[in-house]
Amino acid sequence: MSVKPKVLIAGAGIGGLTAAAFLLKSGYPVRVFEQAPALGEIGAGIHMSANAIKMFCHLGLADGLEKVGVKPRAYVFRLFQSGEIIQTFPLGEEHRRLHGAPYYLFHRADIHELLVGAVRDLDPDAVRLSSTVEGFEEKGSTITVRLTDGRSEEGDLLIGADGIKSVVREQILGKAEAHYTGNAAWRILVPTERLSRDATDFVMTVWVGPGAHAVVYNARADRICFVGSVESSDWSEESWTVKCDWSQMRDDFSAWHPEVREIIENADRDQCYRWGLFIRSKVDHWSQGHVTLLGDAAHATLPFLAQGAVMAVEDGVVLTRCLDRCSSIEEALDLYQRNRIPRTSRVIEESTDNARLFHLATEEDLRKAFAERTLGAERNQWLYNYDALSVELT
Ligand code: FAD
Repeated sequence: MSVKPKVLIAGAGIGGLTAAAFLLKSGYPVRVFEQAPALGEIGAGIHMSANAIKMFCHLGLADGLEKVGVKPRAYVFRLFQSGEIIQTFPLGEEHRRLHGAPYYLFHRADIHELLVGAVRDLDPDAVRLSSTVEGFEEKGSTITVRLTDGRSEEGDLLIGADGIKSVVREQILGKAEAHYTGNAAWRILVPTERLSRDATDFVMTVWVGPGAHAVVYNARADRICFVGSVESSDWSEESWTVKCDWSQMRDDFSAWHPEVREIIENADRDQCYRWGLFIRSKVDHWSQGHVTLLGDAAHATLPFLAQGAVMAVEDGVVLTRCLDRCSSIEEALDLYQRNRIPRTSRVIEESTDNARLFHLATEEDLRKAFAERTLGAERNQWLYNYDALSVELT
């Protein structure tokens, strides 16, 4: 396109910010509308593989990532009661050697702050806070975004990066509630000094057991993040900020290995969060005219492959490349969804499969099922090796 279109983005989560940074870097004027009055992320961990980290490095964030990120040496799967290791694969140097960037564990606030900095370095006025998108109008080739306080802004393209409850999605695809997956997740952060484990051995551990699993890793060098997913017909709303009774979490994991119970015992009792895990039905398109979606707004997934935010990052990079390459916005959005729907659908499917694999009924069933899979080799072959900057777009 001879003149770079003006891009409006709803939502300044990891997806919206990454897209904003890549688009600004490529010379597009960008405005991001974020409903929150201040930028920030909730107090939880997040782990991200090379397919996202390489993109952040391209934004010049390598030093910042190295300062705030923790590099785990391995991914380890353990049985819920005996603690037996039933599978492990290397991360650390091996992940970097294979995929060109490290695997990092972060506190969400740290990675979010780095991305905000990257966007503001490119355009200090790009992000508008306290700006809740209500909807949009499309007239000819102009998109007008309406905010709930009566303000509006015109642009050439709108990206809905406004998460699982996306209003942009609703306007493109119609009203459809997200489905509860039958899984709820507990989230706590525990200072490592309260635990007897070796705080310098950084590993990504997934404890697997009947109807539940627990992911344990360092969100910072001195903080353990515990995300315990349980099958449950009783769910809280889809929200990161709903607190629940600590004793319910203790009961959910009361039969588990002492290392798991020690983490729960040492949680701040008034800081235990539990929320329902929701997904949406698969769609065959997520663009309309000059409007499209990315991240959870487009393809919310169970987090059991730890790739939701990573997919949002890839989306933003591929979308920028499509705009750079095509002669019209329609053509670019078509190329974008054609390339991103199959990949993100596979992530959704494999994440859902992991719910079955991780939650088998007995240690014997789990041991057998894991013996038939080599998760590291599988992921290295299709997941972590994707390079959104160079993958062929067809
Ligand atoms: P969001 O993070 O939801 O951001 C949306 C933004 O839009 C928010 O800032 C919101 O305030 C704003 N917004 C919403 N509505 C409006 C509106 N109307 N107007 C303006 N602004 C609006 N992924 C990983 O890659 N690795 C992991 O380890 C990982 N662990 C996870 C663990 C759990 C338990 C869960 C539930 C998810 C996990 N994920 C993980 C998934 C990841 O959190 C999400 O996929 C990711 O945050 C999606 O980013 P996003 O930018 O698309 O949406």
